[in-house]
Amino acid sequence: MEYPRTLTEISTVEIALATHYSGVVTQQALTQTVGGRAVTYLQIAKGIAPEPRIPVLFVGGIHARELAPPAALLSLVGLLAKADATSSGITIGRLTISAADVQLILAKVELCVLAMANPDGRDYVYSTPGDRMWRKNRNPPLGNEGVDINRNFDIAWDFEKYYDSSAAKDVKASKIPAHQLGYIGHHAGSEIETQNIVALIDGTAPGVRPAEWFVDVHSHHGTVFYPWALETNGSDHTMHWRNAAWDNRRDGVGNFRGDYAEYFPPKAAPRRGIASMMAIGSNDANSRSGSGKVGAKQLAEGLYTATGTSVDYALSRSILDPNRTVFAFAIECGTPSDGGFAPSATQYPTVEKDVHGSLLVLLRHIASGVAHPVVGEPKIGCFVATAVYGDPGHRDVAFLRRLRDEVLPTTRAGRRIGPPIVRVYGRLGPPAARWLAAKPRLAGVVRRVAFEPTVNACRQLLREEGR
Ligand SMILES: [Zn+2]
Repeated sequence: MEYPRTLTEISTVEIALATHYSGVVTQQALTQTVGGRAVTYLQIAKGIAPEPRIPVLFVGGIHARELAPPAALLSLVGLLAKADATSSGITIGRLTISAADVQLILAKVELCVLAMANPDGRDYVYSTPGDRMWRKNRNPPLGNEGVDINRNFDIAWDFEKYYDSSAAKDVKASKIPAHQLGYIGHHAGSEIETQNIVALIDGTAPGVRPAEWFVDVHSHHGTVFYPWALETNGSDHTMHWRNAAWDNRRDGVGNFRGDYAEYFPPKAAPRRGIASMMAIGSNDANSRSGSGKVGAKQLAEGLYTATGTSVDYALSRSILDPNRTVFAFAIECGTPSDGGFAPSATQYPTVEKDVHGSLLVLLRHIASGVAHPVVGEPKIGCFVATAVYGDPGHRDVAFLRRLRDEVLPTTRAGRRIGPPIVRVYGRLGPPAARWLAAKPRLAGVVRRVAFEPTVNACRQLLREEGR
C-alpha cells in the first residue's frame, strides 16, 4: 500500500487518528501559513497524570521534498494508540516494546507530534508544475525564493558574522533567496513555520509545556545526529553563539586552527549515549546486523556545518534558561538505497521502521526514568594513528595516546589542541584507517602532511605549559 505523501493524504490520516483514538490523541492548530494552509499537531497522552508529564516534541516535514518523515511520525502515533486500545505491546523486527511500556509512555510522557511542519512546501512538491526537489517553504508564494526553515531559527542565524570568512564558506547556509539549500530568510525566526516550531519548543502553543526532548526527523543520511550543528562541541563556557568577542573569528569545523568549539552544556551531556541507543532501536526494528547499520554522530562533524537549525535552537534553550534542559536530536532516516528523499511504497517500510525503532526506544527511555546511557565522544582512535605510522609503538602514536588519556581532559593547552586532533581523526575514521593500512606509501604522505605538523604543534604547546 502507498504511504501518505500528499497534504490531503497526510491530513486525512491525522484527522482519522484524532477521531478514532479520541481518548488518547488530540489534534491542535498552530498559525496557518502564508499560503493559507493549516498547520496542526497531535498531542498523545492518556488520562490525568498524578504528576507533570515529561514534554516530548517530534517534528517532521520541515523539508518539503523529504517524503517519508511525516507519514512515519503519524504511523508511530497510530502504533502507540492501537497498542493502548488493544492492551498489547509493539513488536517490530527484533524490537519489542511491552504493553506495560506502552502504558508507561502514555502515562509519563506528554507527546506532541508536528508531522507536517511545512505544508506549503509539500503542496508545491506535488502541485502543477511542482518541483519534486523543492526543500524550502513558499514565502513568497510565487517564484523560487522560499526560505529553508532549518536555517531560519534564531541561533547563529547570520553565519557571515558568526564565523571567519573562510569558515563561513564551508557553512551550508546562504543569503541568496533563490538557493534551494540553506536560504536563511530576512531575519532570524522570520517564517511562520519556524515560529510554529518555536511555539512548541518553548511551550507557548495551546496546551503545551516547554519541551524537554526534541527530535527533528529528516531524510536520508541513515544516522541519528546530536548537536551542535554549528560547531565542534566544546567545554569552555565563554565560547557560545552570543559571545560577540568571537564574532568573525570562529573557525568552523572544516578548518584546523582549533581555536573555537561551541560550549555544550554538561547537563545535556549524555547526548551521544542517547543517540546511540536510538540508532540501536532503528537497527533492531529492521533486524540489521553487519553492514548498513544506522549510527550516531555529532551534526557538524558527521553531516555538515549549519546555522539556524531546529536542534541547535532547542539545545540553546538549555543555556539561556538555567532551569531548563532540552535534549535535542535529528534523525536522518533512510539511505540513498532506500529511495533517498522519495522512497517508493516498497522502500518505505524500511525507512518507517528506522523512525519507529529510534523514537520508540527513546520514548521508553524517557518514560522509564532510568539514568541516561552515557557513551563518550568518539575516542581519538589510536588505530588510525597506527595505520598512519604503521607501528603502534611509534613515539608519535604513544604521544597521541598520552594526549588523549592524560593531557586533553585536564589542561588549557589540551583544550586548545584537542579539537584539531579530533578533527584529523574525524576526517579519517576507521574505514580510512583500514584502507590506509594497505597503502604504506600513501600513509607516509598523510603522516607528513596531516599528522606530524599537528603532533609537533602539540608538543610545542605542551612545552610552553611546562608539561
Ligand atoms: Zn532535511
